[in-house]
Amino acid sequence: MIPAFPFQNDLYEESGMAGTEYIRIVEVGPRDGLQNLATFVATDRKIGLIRELAACGLREIQIGGFVHPQAIPQFRDIREVAAGVNGLEGVALTALVPNLRGARVAAACGLRKLNFFFSVSRSHNRSNVRQTPEESLAALKTIREELFPSGIEIRVDLATAFGCPFEGHIPIGAVLRAVEETANLGIREITLCDTVGFGNPRLVEEIARVCRERFPDVAFGMHFHNTRGLGLANTFAAYQVGIRTFDASLGGLGGCPFAPGASGNTATEDTAFLFAEMGVETGVDLPALLETARRLQGILPDIPLTSALSRAGLPRRAGFPCPS
Ligand code: ZN
Repeated sequence: MIPAFPFQNDLYEESGMAGTEYIRIVEVGPRDGLQNLATFVATDRKIGLIRELAACGLREIQIGGFVHPQAIPQFRDIREVAAGVNGLEGVALTALVPNLRGARVAAACGLRKLNFFFSVSRSHNRSNVRQTPEESLAALKTIREELFPSGIEIRVDLATAFGCPFEGHIPIGAVLRAVEETANLGIREITLCDTVGFGNPRLVEEIARVCRERFPDVAFGMHFHNTRGLGLANTFAAYQVGIRTFDASLGGLGGCPFAPGASGNTATEDTAFLFAEMGVETGVDLPALLETARRLQGILPDIPLTSALSRAGLPRRAGFPCPS
């Protein structure tokens, strides 16, 4: 059984469930995976994909973004998608919101958890949302004040936390400042995003460790792109220092349209396989997930899925997946 959020180890141990290792995978395929595609995926197919992902045991799914349709045309049907999956049992459905307007529409569409985001890098934030980070934080403050009273949860994603396509290296002090400013607004769930795949396991370990030490009240998650093949190594490095929430995208689809060189997220099936092999509970039904990946490939025949598992399949041996 996967416990409810918050998901940090110490809280888990307090809950009396110590001894079972677990992680939570947040499926971002319907958002990060689809946002960059030139092909518009039909609304009923998006709804079907989200429903299938939920049936595979994924307990948090980003269904898309409440952004201007000219910025990301793929999400021009986000209201219909939200209506089509509304009421799905046992799943936290979330969506990306860049501003107050998007947050209001998302809340009106029935979403109970929103993903606000901004970049640690000033240049990327300008390119991505045409705002300074200070303006983004001011928007977050307003969103929080308006929506917290109605019980809506807000997770904040910090883009380019491990490097920026425009500015290159991002000092750890800048990441800590962004975390602090976000936490000061009462946000208790923050995801550090390697938007363009600049992270490496040592950098990830350092940033994750320092963040957890400095901000023990914040539940940190990680969002890795496998741009140069380090996605799973980074995932494992973060796990080793206590991170228990990981974004991933079915088939390894993904990429930021406003970050040159960005490519796919770490694949959900590869992430689930990594942890299943280590005896760590994910709640994901891997054979069902691979079947969903196969159907996704059918929907997107011209876009090769990059996950290792979708190519190799599950190992043919007794006892798979690992009993946990
Ligand atoms: Zn991403």
